[in-house]
Amino acid sequence: MTSLRHPPARLREIIFSARKIVLLTHKNPDGDALGSALGLYNFLLQKKKHPVVIVPDAYPHYFRFLPGREKMLVADKHTEVALKKVREADLLFCLDFNRTDRLGCLEAAFLERTAPALLLDHHPDPDTALWLDCLHDTSASSTSELVALFLHHVFPKDPPGADAATCLYTGMFMDTGGFMFNFTENTFRHCARMLAAGARADIFVEAVFQSNTEDRMRLMGYCLYEKLRVLPDLGLAYISLTQEEMKRFNFRKGDSESFVNLALSIGGIRMAVLISEQEDGITRLSFRSKGSLPVNDLAAQYFNGGGHRNASGGQIQGNAAQAEALLVETVTRWITPFKNMA
Ligand code: 5GP
Ligand code: MN
Repeated sequence: MTSLRHPPARLREIIFSARKIVLLTHKNPDGDALGSALGLYNFLLQKKKHPVVIVPDAYPHYFRFLPGREKMLVADKHTEVALKKVREADLLFCLDFNRTDRLGCLEAAFLERTAPALLLDHHPDPDTALWLDCLHDTSASSTSELVALFLHHVFPKDPPGADAATCLYTGMFMDTGGFMFNFTENTFRHCARMLAAGARADIFVEAVFQSNTEDRMRLMGYCLYEKLRVLPDLGLAYISLTQEEMKRFNFRKGDSESFVNLALSIGGIRMAVLISEQEDGITRLSFRSKGSLPVNDLAAQYFNGGGHRNASGGQIQGNAAQAEALLVETVTRWITPFKNMA
């Protein structure tokens, strides 16, 4: 854990004296990326600051209920405006990532900036030299939990309002798989505070879990019936999707969310992968594991990626079939030393 080096009063001063605050999060933003950035955004609005949240690329449509998301800038759609905001910022927050390559098209502008940046994150091995100050803890459930902790520490007299609370609750819920893993007693303490502040858990559940489209449900059925491959000797199960298959089911970003967990739910399977071919000649891989199997090492070593021990991602240049062949070949070798581990 890396605690903040600056005392709360100094951090308040840094925030209050900034005129152009930019909040950044990672590519393919998930519930925690959006929840932490929009949670902080809504809190800063309460304090009469007007920050801008910038995400590198599009986010799943079911997060459209998050308060403040309509003001968010999507950088690969509004590139010039987004780059200008990053260059002109006088204070930046980096949320839910620790490597600047996670910023996609914003990376170069971020590295060239002169303004100070604060990091709030829970991924392993941050490059701490890049930031003025860090609140970094790999044992935290989520970056949203760290934002809740940060606000409690820096603004002890100002509880978050309902909008900030809804976003932070969403992030904590999503990054723990609905409080299935990675949580501690602190997570529940912060969630309780968010609920007391008016977090709308009801809206969130309906938007994320009860708003499936028929296309997504059919795609899920197709994946489980036709596309799931189970390799018991490797403890591996995976699903691979081509662009053609996605088009057949009118795929929209987020439609394959949690499919990888369905593969992981098989007894005896220790590692699951969702392979998704993209439109640009790249194929993305989403890794999940049980217990101590470090899929972030696999993602970093062989798939240009990284992440957490039990949830990570990566990509290769090539199509889904090539990614599948590489996956099986790589896992066959990589898994050997872990075969007798719990
Ligand atoms: P997902 O499979 O949901 O896309 O990602 C799972 C986790 O892995 C998230 O915590 C995400 O931040 C991380 N992750 C996904 N893709 C990458 C990547 O390309 N590089 C790194 N360093 N982390 C990734
Ligand atoms: Mn996260």
